[in-house]
Amino acid sequence: MMDYRSDTVTRPTPGMLQAMMNAETGDDVFGEDPTVNFLQTKAAALFNMEAALFCPSGTMTNQIAIRCHTQPGNEVICDTLSHIYQFEGGGIASNAGCSVKLLQGNNGRVTAGMVQKGVNNPHDIHKAVSTLVSLENTVNFGGGTCYDFADIQAIKEVCVTHQLAFHLDGARLFNALVAKKETPAQYGQVFDSISICLSKGLGAPVGSLLLGTQAFITKSRRVRKAMGGGMRQAGILAAAGVYALDNHVNRLATDHLHAQQLAKAWGEKDFVGEILPVETNIVIFEVKGRYTAAELASLLKEKNIHVIAISPTHIRMVLHLDIQLHMIEETLAVIQAL
Ligand SMILES: *Cc1c(COP(=O)(O)O)cnc(C)c1O
Repeated sequence: MMDYRSDTVTRPTPGMLQAMMNAETGDDVFGEDPTVNFLQTKAAALFNMEAALFCPSGTMTNQIAIRCHTQPGNEVICDTLSHIYQFEGGGIASNAGCSVKLLQGNNGRVTAGMVQKGVNNPHDIHKAVSTLVSLENTVNFGGGTCYDFADIQAIKEVCVTHQLAFHLDGARLFNALVAKKETPAQYGQVFDSISICLSKGLGAPVGSLLLGTQAFITKSRRVRKAMGGGMRQAGILAAAGVYALDNHVNRLATDHLHAQQLAKAWGEKDFVGEILPVETNIVIFEVKGRYTAAELASLLKEKNIHVIAISPTHIRMVLHLDIQLHMIEETLAVIQAL
């Protein structure tokens, strides 16, 4: 089966399983799991940030961050396509009690000017107090688009001027780093908190990391407990994360190349309309004429190619380490024959 539905479908590789088997463990709620502690220290050092917290999911790391940066009644500024707003079960409202100011960015990327306009006047008692700006990089539903770092720096200046916290949903940040030839430390310098997923393109079975200052992570640890996210011998999972950071970052470039190849093949079909710019490992394209998105998805499924119709008109395909070269070749042949 060629599973392009998401980069979350990857299975641990033999090397990763071996690392998990060999992991030293302890009770992480007591702070005594050496492998969790190692992963957290390693990640913090990589981003040149003070501390990190290992959590079960990227939804949890984002939600903890939002909760810790805000007070109930505050407002969070983000793009309309943001995962934190669209796909986290209404958590901004239920976990943090905050409202949201939605910006209409370019495939999910906002500018400093948009953020500036989105900040409420702090002296107007009618308005919610703006306290947090959250970016996503890469933008999942923008088709895996990435920011130019200079644009992030400009947004940071707006945050400093208006005393807003600055969070990054970096579920796929490593895809952006590889595509743009940037470093984690660059990002550590501008954001107050960063969430990264180990369970997407990096191929770990479970786990995300939240990064920030020591004080922020201490606060986050309490919120993680309250959300039920304190895990015990989590070193088995953290070992997969360590292995992923050591072995699965550079290979993301291969996924990006495969995404380009798929996009090119779809572009030659008369029933394919707009294809979102392919910058990393995601291909989102419009289906028109001969098929609906759902029809094309089920046709592909008969050929053992699994994709998601994300709307009546659009299909998403995501590349990852379980899609190998021979599968790409087979998929390209199927597309060409349609
Ligand atoms: C997958 C994802 C998350 C977190 O998802 P979990 O399934 O909770 O780990 C957060 N943000 C983005 C952009 C994502 O794609």
